[in-house]
Amino acid sequence: MGTWESNIRRVTPYTPGEQPNKPGMIKLNTNENPYPPAPGVERALRETDVNRLRLYPDPTASELVKAIAQNKGLSGDQVFVGVGSDDVLAMCFLTFFNSGKPILFPDITYSFYDVWADVFRIPFETPALDADFNLVPGDYYRENGGIIFPNPNAPTGVECPQDVIEDILRHNPEVIVIVDEAYVDFGAVSALPLLEKYENLIVVQTFSKSRSLAGLRIGYAMANPELIRCLNDVKYSFNSYTMDQTALELGAASIRDTSYFNETIRKIAATRERTKKRLRELGFSFRDSKSNFIFATHENCPAKELFDALRERDIYVRYFPKPRIDQYLRITIGTDEEMDVFLSFLENYLNNRCHCSQRIDI
Ligand code: PMP
Repeated sequence: MGTWESNIRRVTPYTPGEQPNKPGMIKLNTNENPYPPAPGVERALRETDVNRLRLYPDPTASELVKAIAQNKGLSGDQVFVGVGSDDVLAMCFLTFFNSGKPILFPDITYSFYDVWADVFRIPFETPALDADFNLVPGDYYRENGGIIFPNPNAPTGVECPQDVIEDILRHNPEVIVIVDEAYVDFGAVSALPLLEKYENLIVVQTFSKSRSLAGLRIGYAMANPELIRCLNDVKYSFNSYTMDQTALELGAASIRDTSYFNETIRKIAATRERTKKRLRELGFSFRDSKSNFIFATHENCPAKELFDALRERDIYVRYFPKPRIDQYLRITIGTDEEMDVFLSFLENYLNNRCHCSQRIDI
């Protein structure tokens, strides 16, 4: 083996949910939004000047940054944009988690965190959520190199109350605390107002879920101007032009359309509540979800069996064969029509299975 081989940075990569593209499929596996982007996005796309693509995009992404800042009541120097929140979060890991002490995130959480920690050689520890999938604030009082957790959490959908977030911030003034709010718009409370009080807080959000733009790749971090400046320094040391011209124009058009945004969120939350009710009737249980997915377990049917049966019928949900959560399915909220097909399939499947096993028992 040549020396070069032992010098390769070897990592176990993150596994994204599959992206099948079959006619008639129902895709409830990657928490995408079932509704199209805001009408202004299509308009902006039609009006795009192709000749503009000859030039490099604005490296400061100022139009998009300004539009986000305006929407959030912040100033432009409090906003950093990236290629999806995955890019923003990766930049945060690289910029802020350099103490050599272990960073902390929950044992059940977004499975990209340990991958970034690994690729950047950041030590980490994963305090266990309690039996109801709640964060235990006391676990975050120990010495650490930084803290990150999603709110609502993924894949559980459970919201972390503001007083717990503030408690964690109060106990950790020496490190950066990142709240990953990929799903916050679907009904949870944002930590954004805490920015005024805590200079070590970073709030990360995305256009991928509530703004129906997973394909465009826009995420953003909000924090005090000094932290944003540090993020930009690292970005410029890596790739000046992370945001392409189309993303800059379409992203700005998207965030300006508040009424379409509010209406889409309202529809998804209503479908979620209806889906919860039917799932309960079918024998599923789950913690209350404030996101655009439900993390559910069935009282007697194994999750992997249901996952396979649904997949066979081209209904895709997400299954994680991991400790503590291998009896759960993560089900993204689709349109009412999609959820009806999904729920009817489950109803038939569980009924037939029930009759079958009763016959076998006799
Ligand atoms: N954070 C969490 C908790 C997520 O579930 C996701 C989606 N996979 C992301 C961040 C990244 O989303 P995006 O890069 O599309 O903004």
